[in-house]
Amino acid sequence: MNSLTNADLHCHSVVSDGTLTPEALAERAKANGVELWAMTDHDEIGGQARAIAAARAVGLPYLTGTEISVTFLNVTVHIVGLGMDHKSPELFAGLHATRSGREQRARDMANGLARVGIKGAFEGALQYAGNPELISRTHFARFLVETGICKDTNEVFRKYINDGKPGFVPHRWATLSDAVSWITRSGGMAIIAHPGRYKFTANEEFALFTEFKAHGGQGVEVVTGAHGPADVVKYTDFCREFGLLGSRGSDFHSPEESHTDLGRLPDLPGQVTPVWEALQDRIHH
Ligand code: AMP
Ligand code: MN
Ligand code: MN
Ligand code: MN
Repeated sequence: MNSLTNADLHCHSVVSDGTLTPEALAERAKANGVELWAMTDHDEIGGQARAIAAARAVGLPYLTGTEISVTFLNVTVHIVGLGMDHKSPELFAGLHATRSGREQRARDMANGLARVGIKGAFEGALQYAGNPELISRTHFARFLVETGICKDTNEVFRKYINDGKPGFVPHRWATLSDAVSWITRSGGMAIIAHPGRYKFTANEEFALFTEFKAHGGQGVEVVTGAHGPADVVKYTDFCREFGLLGSRGSDFHSPEESHTDLGRLPDLPGQVTPVWEALQDRIHH
């Protein structure tokens, strides 16, 4: 394996806010030419045993994964973990605590939507959640599209559930320090997910990378579905500046909704040391 390996180390199943099962994802990844795969459900490791078995069944090398929701400087940041022991009690407890606020948040979101005339959104969103502990904004988006209130999920976020909109509810997720330590103490590597998506000033972003490193974080997503060419150049430089390894992942959620399919991503730039070089002994074959 090298920087040209078709690694896809970020995607979601029905265990969080994806629409495919772990088994269907494994088959799709294999069919798309993925050579190393990780399934990274939000705040969950409940699907990992299935993903390991499904990957083995199709002959696809696999790394365990998750994507933890973190609040840093009042902004939601996502930290991907790869290669953890998915049976770690400490990791389970941390993720369970992170998930626990989601139901009340969803009820508050539905109340906000009711005030602008959209009724029954909590029950509606819950119908789309494969895992009731993991009700997310994506499930609200699917409900509002299905009922014809919006034409696509992007419009739902823009009009109803992004920060400042009627269905948005501020939420306090895990701390950066806790998320990195749950991952690293269970044998995994912590990685900053899709950094190009956050609305940070340059100073705030510097603080994120500096603190992440200080807590023991080791990687950053350089190539992801959300990054354009300028982002790839910028975070390639960040790898050198901060001494980080580079990751690559589509963030695939659904054949209907995702622009970037499993394994259909630009190569990791050759100047970047891939995260999978340091994770060889964590791969399930
Ligand atoms: P939550 O963790 O409940 O706040 O939901 C966040 C999820 O919403 C992300 O993981 C994405 O899957 C999805 N999401 C965020 N912004 C958008 C957007 N503009 N369009 C579609 N999906 C989005
Ligand atoms: Mn998601
Ligand atoms: Mn994310
Ligand atoms: Mn994701």
